Amino acid sequence: MLDLQSVDTEIDQLLHRRRSLPELEEFKLVNTRLTALRETATQQEAQLGETVSAVNKGEGELDLTDKKRATEEMRMFAGGLSAKDLENLQREVEMLGRQIDAAEEEILGLLEVRDTQDAALLETTSALAIAEAGSSELEAAIADQWREIDAEVAGQQERRNDFVPLIPAELLELYEELRPTKEGIGAARLVEGVCGGCHLSLSPAERIEVLREDPPRCLQCRRILVPQ
Ligand SMILES: [Zn+2]
Repeated sequence: MLDLQSVDTEIDQLLHRRRSLPELEEFKLVNTRLTALRETATQQEAQLGETVSAVNKGEGELDLTDKKRATEEMRMFAGGLSAKDLENLQREVEMLGRQIDAAEEEILGLLEVRDTQDAALLETTSALAIAEAGSSELEAAIADQWREIDAEVAGQQERRNDFVPLIPAELLELYEELRPTKEGIGAARLVEGVCGGCHLSLSPAERIEVLREDPPRCLQCRRILVPQ
């Protein structure tokens, strides 16, 4: 009975260790960071995309305005226009020139924004790569330890299978029933009248009373007692 208890305690401890590896906590943190970084990268990509389209649009418009100005200038120099028309045309060419200057300035501004956004995205993607590498490393470390623990559990399980048939079915049932509510300890030693489960010290009279029961059980914690 105590052999079974010790195997079960060992298995419980292994399973507890499996659930509470420090790497699991780190893994969770890294993955929270990964999610946040991925979101940031998506946003930054979208912003960069918008800026790039704005640059393209601005450059397209600039090109058209430029061509228009060239055409109007040609008309001016081709001659054959009245003084008034020439003056109007002159004014239009000047206006187009101002539009071109303004558009160029706007594009330069957008290019600066694009460079800043580009750098920010690059920073995010390199942080993402580092976090991804960290996550994979942790995953591998966790898998290694789990494999190790699982092998140990399997070994203990085999030992358990050897002990179980040696225990009467009713006693085993009681033991299994007690374990979940008694911190995993269903059976304890009784050494010099002291319960190994809850450390209650039994008087000689109580000891006799307890030992008369089948199986003997602690008066306080009701665990199965194995007299030593
Ligand atoms: Zn007890």
